[in-house]
Amino acid sequence: MSRVRRLRSRCLWALLGWSLGLAQVQAATTSPGPAQAEALAARLDLLVRQEQGQTDQQPGSLKTLQAWRQAAAADGALDDRTRVAFDLAEARLLLAQGDSEAALRLADRLAAQPGSPALSPLLRAEQAARQGRLQAAADWAGQAWQILETGCPEGVLKADIQQGRCDYRSSWSALRLQARQRMAEGAHSLAEVQLRRSLDLAQAGADPERSALSMASLAQVNQSLSQTEQSRRWLTLALQTAQGDAQTQGQIKVIEATMAARNGDLRAQRQALDAGLQIARATGNRLLLAQMHIGLIDFYMQQKQPLRALQAAGPALDWLAHQPDARIERALRNNLAVARIQLHQFERARQELARLRELNQGHTELVDQSVELREQGEAWAAAGQTREAILAYHAERKLNAQLTARHRESSLQQLKLKYDSERKQRDLALLVSKQALVDRQLSNRQLASQVGYAVAALLGLSLLLGAVMVRRVHLTNKRLKANEVLLRAQSERDPLTDLANRRHFLAVMNQQDQPAFNGALLMVDIDHFKHVNDQHGHGIGDVVICEVARRLSHAVRQNDLVVRWGGEEFLVFAADVSAEQLCALAERILHSVAGTPVQTTDGPLRITVSLGFARFPLPPSQLLLHWEQAVNWADMALYSAKSRGRNRAMGIETVHAPNAEALAAIAADFDAACSSERVNLKQILGPGSA
Ligand code: GH3
Ligand code: MG
Ligand code: MG
Repeated sequence: MSRVRRLRSRCLWALLGWSLGLAQVQAATTSPGPAQAEALAARLDLLVRQEQGQTDQQPGSLKTLQAWRQAAAADGALDDRTRVAFDLAEARLLLAQGDSEAALRLADRLAAQPGSPALSPLLRAEQAARQGRLQAAADWAGQAWQILETGCPEGVLKADIQQGRCDYRSSWSALRLQARQRMAEGAHSLAEVQLRRSLDLAQAGADPERSALSMASLAQVNQSLSQTEQSRRWLTLALQTAQGDAQTQGQIKVIEATMAARNGDLRAQRQALDAGLQIARATGNRLLLAQMHIGLIDFYMQQKQPLRALQAAGPALDWLAHQPDARIERALRNNLAVARIQLHQFERARQELARLRELNQGHTELVDQSVELREQGEAWAAAGQTREAILAYHAERKLNAQLTARHRESSLQQLKLKYDSERKQRDLALLVSKQALVDRQLSNRQLASQVGYAVAALLGLSLLLGAVMVRRVHLTNKRLKANEVLLRAQSERDPLTDLANRRHFLAVMNQQDQPAFNGALLMVDIDHFKHVNDQHGHGIGDVVICEVARRLSHAVRQNDLVVRWGGEEFLVFAADVSAEQLCALAERILHSVAGTPVQTTDGPLRITVSLGFARFPLPPSQLLLHWEQAVNWADMALYSAKSRGRNRAMGIETVHAPNAEALAAIAADFDAACSSERVNLKQILGPGSA
């Protein structure tokens, strides 16, 4: 190396050291310690971040990186760990610039280096995510996390990060990529667990940017779980945490706008979009600009202004021409297709839809796909294209059935986890109180015996004292029992409606002696409830949920159990009921809800529900089912009730399946089984239904 170059690289390294706030630049022969390595990682992180969101090829950042690397090498500060950090940053810059091949070559090189086995799968995950292949991204990220997790155990401490044991940045990315896929497939509860963990890591790393992004994603997950209050709190916290960091605020605005759109809150959506556009323009972040325009398109679509929507498509299409991104393109194509349908440009709409189908090939983002199908179906119907509307509707319903099954599975898994840990805590609290009681009884006994001695001298007084002691023990005992009952009751109640919650139902099911489910289930879902929220606000939505809960409780028999199953879904468990009684019960529910309007501060609202119900074991073959399967059957019947026009109950009367395999095959394609009469359904209409 010439003297001049060496001098320049020394200056660069010194500059880097200085800008990192290091007191001293490394001496020529020592390798960097953990603090320097962490500072370098932070610096490289920033360089990569600045690269995100630019469309122009920026050889500048790669050059900067090379210069830093050379400077470090010249100073003998390039040890294994530093080399890995440089390679990782370089691969990410290459990914951001769209050069996947070169990035993956670097990933292979990383795989061969000691001490960094997780980084190669992580880079592959990031590359897959950029291409919109979320499932592949989650698989690779899962591999990376398995390796990283050993260094960052639960309850990770700052010291683990500072000493270089825990690579919190990589762990955070691995967790988020997995959570993204979970959310896309509707497994929100599992996504929540992973996002919480990613937040813990970001906070342990004192990293406000990553903390804020985790919080914003948690807001989104909580919204999907209908935990509205919690969701709002996370969003506020995310924005507070991102204060002073325009780029992160911009990313949060994307999430905020999407959430407002899902809530049907046009004003909030527009505000988030305007704020995001301002940030995108101020920072020159073209990715953000494109995302905001996609949001604008969505906004105009909701406002029934398809022409303006088409006009807003320019910046987004520009971005896609530079940086293909399947996920963004999917959202865009769907909106364009719907706009074209609304403008009666059917041929162009079909072209957009063909492209959308191409992009959806092999993708598992069921939630997005289901929303897209609903929008398309509604647009086709409004444009008078019935055939296409029905096709879209059927496709949507199929997806929704898959989604419901996944959602239920993940909620149950998480509930079990939560229930286990809560039960352990309760048992512990109980143990402590019981111990206190034993101690008290002991001391009471001692007291009593002392009183006994005193009897000889003070007979009357000792009798009185003895009675007081006994009473105190008795009272303590009673209070403890009451506390325990209260504790258990509170954790198994839904706070809004005061009905039993899923946890309670789970506890009841776990107490059953036999493994197979016995009894009847009715799954009840309020019809078009989103309209209630959209037109009258969430407060009135809550009032309606409470009133429906109250009417359900009155309609069922004394020993039936009513559970708030989800947002506006209820499950009724009738343990001992004949087929006739069950039909009567379903009819009572339909009439008690829809018979009289619900009184609200916005005036009376007519509310109807749909129901799916069945008795288990299923006649005539009486095959045994686990309770989770039984819930699934009731749910399938509910879907039939929805698809036949709502405000009705569909009951499964008979299922012709000789064995468990045949039963599973029927469950896999319920519609077909109903058409071929392998399943017979009974329909009960609600008041005013034809
Ligand atoms: P469908 O007839 O097909 O059931 O239509 P729907 O609009 O009822 O459909 P969907 O199940 O998609 O919508 C349920 C909505 O209920 C979505 C969610 O925002 C809202 N929701 C869920 N939980 C609550 C809650 O506790 N309070 C309020 N106000 N709304 C809730
Ligand atoms: Mg529902
Ligand atoms: Mg509903």
